[in-house]
Amino acid sequence: MPKVEDTRENAEACMQFCEPCLTYPGIAGEALFCARGKSSSPGGKKGCNCGICDVRKKFGCDGTYYCISGACQ
Ligand code: SF4
Ligand code: SF4
Repeated sequence: MPKVEDTRENAEACMQFCEPCLTYPGIAGEALFCARGKSSSPGGKKGCNCGICDVRKKFGCDGTYYCISGACQ
């Protein structure tokens, strides 16, 4: 069970950080990787904004690059 709740509010908060991220895969409809798991087409690591994201902090997640490595557990 992922730690992060899959809600529209969290997905909208996520997009403030993931969308401008250079690693963001840009697949339509994909967001909130810390809850929903990795992208269907992850790219290479070019930086990750998760470390400064309020959702990550709120749910006590460790790690970064959830679009590549999968949901925070
Ligand atoms: S921790 Fe990363 S994937 Fe999760 S909501 Fe924040 S920016 Fe999005
Ligand atoms: S999970 Fe991290 S690396 Fe992936 S798009 Fe979001 S901020 Fe960027």
